[in-house]
Amino acid sequence: MLKNEISDTPVYTISSAAKLLNISVHTLRMYEREGLIIPYKKESNQRLYSDKDLERMRCVRVTISEEKIGIEGIRRILSLIPCWAIAKCPAKDRKNCTAYNGYSKPCWMLKHKDNVCANKDCRMCEVYASFGNCKSIKDKLKEIIPA
Ligand code: SF4
Repeated sequence: MLKNEISDTPVYTISSAAKLLNISVHTLRMYEREGLIIPYKKESNQRLYSDKDLERMRCVRVTISEEKIGIEGIRRILSLIPCWAIAKCPAKDRKNCTAYNGYSKPCWMLKHKDNVCANKDCRMCEVYASFGNCKSIKDKLKEIIPA
């Protein structure tokens, strides 16, 4: 890990993470259901969160409280992430892909059967990971679409 890089090692239980974020466990679970976060899951199904996850959640909180964008709005913004450009998926996969053709949910919330994303662990995927906080969304878009 580079100096100043935020750790992606899942270490916090859901109650610790909620406490650090100053929100309830219920709210954190709701963010997961809404597709705003993918926690690490142990074999026992226990959820763990990393500092990077906490950073992602702080970004969500700021967006809701300061930018006045609701959860539905954030989800739709995330659904516009051009995953096909990041994953460089083949045209034949895009043709029938719900992520490529729709705009209601981010690609990691959708089921992928017969395309390059079929067996991906979304938490580890560049598409999900690249958009971990507010600044990263802009930076990634600048990288994909150079000036
Ligand atoms: S979800 Fe996967 S297959 Fe679908 S457009 Fe995005 S990168 Fe391509």
